[in-house]
Amino acid sequence: MSSDCIFCKIVRKELPASVVREDTATLAFMDIRPMNPGHVLVVSKAHAAYLEELPPGGAGPIFEAAREIARALRRSGIRCQAVSMYLANGREAGQEVSHVHLHMIPRFADDGFGLRVTPGYGRVEGREELDASAAKIRAGLSASGGR
Ligand code: 5GP
Ligand code: ZN
Repeated sequence: MSSDCIFCKIVRKELPASVVREDTATLAFMDIRPMNPGHVLVVSKAHAAYLEELPPGGAGPIFEAAREIARALRRSGIRCQAVSMYLANGREAGQEVSHVHLHMIPRFADDGFGLRVTPGYGRVEGREELDASAAKIRAGLSASGGR
């Protein structure tokens, strides 16, 4: 828990929110500035700025909640042909609220939402470079014992 974090305050019911779903580990509520109507945020109840700061097993419940909510969105009557899920993990990724949250954005054809791609995107990377990147990430995993 963090005393001045807005999502912790919502979890503690100190700030109002339109709650969709709650379990022991997560709370899901409507985003106050929806990208499209029906935009839901799923947050961990435990305060963690980044996904990797959650304890082992702490990330799974967020996605399990998302699984149920994705189905519910399609049945809700809200315009929803598909769902974009986005987790901004760090400021440079677009994170504004420093408490882990998964965006669930109902999507429909030509709704105008999109992600911009990096310049040069589309080049198929060579196996050597792919293997080198994979090796670096594997080293990071073994350094932490995968946890
Ligand atoms: P981020 O940019 O960090 O991925 O997303 C933060 C999201 O939190 C934004 O979509 C923003 O609209 C939403 N948000 C910020 N403050 C509040 C609030 O007080 N209540 C609710 N329900 N959503 C909020
Ligand atoms: Zn928090």
